[in-house]
Amino acid sequence: MLHQSLFHTFLLSLLLIGTVMSCATNPATGERQLALMSPEQEIAMGQQAHAEILKAMEALDNPGLQRYVNDIGQRLAASSERPELPWTFTVLDDPVVNAFALPGGYIYITRGLLTYLTSEAELAGVLGHEIGHVTARHSVEQMSQTTLGSLGLGIGILLYPELQELGRAAQQGMQLLFLKFSRDDEREADRLGLRYMTDLQYAPQKLTDVMDVLAAVSQAQDQEKMPGWLATHPAPEERRELIVQTIRSENLQPQNPIVNQNEYLQHIDGLIFGSDPRDGYFVESRFYHPDLQWRMEFPEGWQTTNQRDVVGALSPSRDAAMVLGLTRSRTVDEAALQFRQQKGLSFGPLQAIQVSGASGVLLPFRAQTDPGIMDGLAAFLSYQGKVYQVMGYSMAARWAAYRPQVLQTFESFQPITDKDILSIQPLRITVTKLPQSMSLSAFVERRSSPVPVSRLAMINQVEPQETLAKGTPIKRVDGQLPPGARNEIIF
Ligand SMILES: [Zn+2]
Repeated sequence: MLHQSLFHTFLLSLLLIGTVMSCATNPATGERQLALMSPEQEIAMGQQAHAEILKAMEALDNPGLQRYVNDIGQRLAASSERPELPWTFTVLDDPVVNAFALPGGYIYITRGLLTYLTSEAELAGVLGHEIGHVTARHSVEQMSQTTLGSLGLGIGILLYPELQELGRAAQQGMQLLFLKFSRDDEREADRLGLRYMTDLQYAPQKLTDVMDVLAAVSQAQDQEKMPGWLATHPAPEERRELIVQTIRSENLQPQNPIVNQNEYLQHIDGLIFGSDPRDGYFVESRFYHPDLQWRMEFPEGWQTTNQRDVVGALSPSRDAAMVLGLTRSRTVDEAALQFRQQKGLSFGPLQAIQVSGASGVLLPFRAQTDPGIMDGLAAFLSYQGKVYQVMGYSMAARWAAYRPQVLQTFESFQPITDKDILSIQPLRITVTKLPQSMSLSAFVERRSSPVPVSRLAMINQVEPQETLAKGTPIKRVDGQLPPGARNEIIF
């Protein structure tokens, strides 16, 4: 979601991508390179990548929840085969349902995944699984090929590497989460995770509940659009079966199995649900950024996306694209100068542009690409002390048709003055107890809910019509999104 701290991720260095690559299986020999590393090398590699991830993703600002997750993680890791690693467990402020691990003991879980869990035992299952990848020294076998197309940024960016600058940040941020392990490694991580959680007396069956909720999420989500844990950890249904078998065959049955539903729910009470509209949201083709206090209107019918670092739009026939992001420059001239230094591009003359509340410069550019010549227009706009870069481009043959639309989009940039929009708040999870025996559907009928009952049922891991006992703790979602706002992650 377009953030205040935007271009951080642009610096997401090749180092990190290099790191990720270097722990991949060597295609020539099939050897697992990670397994050949010394623990010191492994830790150093993880440490570097960890710093990059925290620059790119942001840890959730909730010390109590971070401490809770870290404590559980530390106890699980202490009972693992590699207690000496510098284990860290971090909740990321990301609505995507995901968890992942880096070599050296760096484990991450998103607030998106925490939304769907209902107990400490489930959390322990997820953390245990990720710990398993580290202790078994699994290597990344493949990184799934995310195309910019699947992120909605489109073909144009793919065509020309130099133009990837803006799109790539979003892509890199995502790719980190797409470290795929082999199916065997997944099974092994499940088996190890089960063992670690059972060692701490957590009910191992709760890992099957995690699989069930992930299966439900995968059905509900447009996977192509929002891949997360589901992309990296395929087939929860199949894994569920193996988990059940493992629990039986290894006789994993703690004497007094711990679930700790209440403790868990207390810690996620108040958690943001879905994407935070303060980081920008779309209502149809209009984009609003309450924190940055501006709005912009993209052409109707274009496919739009609000990624962490960029806002992108793709023409209906996918032959033109627009990308907007924050630059690190202090002035528009400095930003334009930077842009001009890109190799392989030629430029037209700079022109001044004045839009409501912002002034800047326009810079036409032309790029020689493999499929042919591409034309585009970049605008650098200065607004409230920040400099934005917006680009639009298409193949040269189509540019005459697209240029007016691109220009019109630039010119639609304007301050937000509506107080309701400026003060908009995200939806939040509230934990409450059912006042009497009833179904979730009946509960929702009594009070309005900003999310459908089907989704509430999913985050509570119950059926909408199922009768729940009086006093059952449930998560409800409170708040109100702006009318028509698209919550990209959740709906
Ligand atoms: Zn895994």
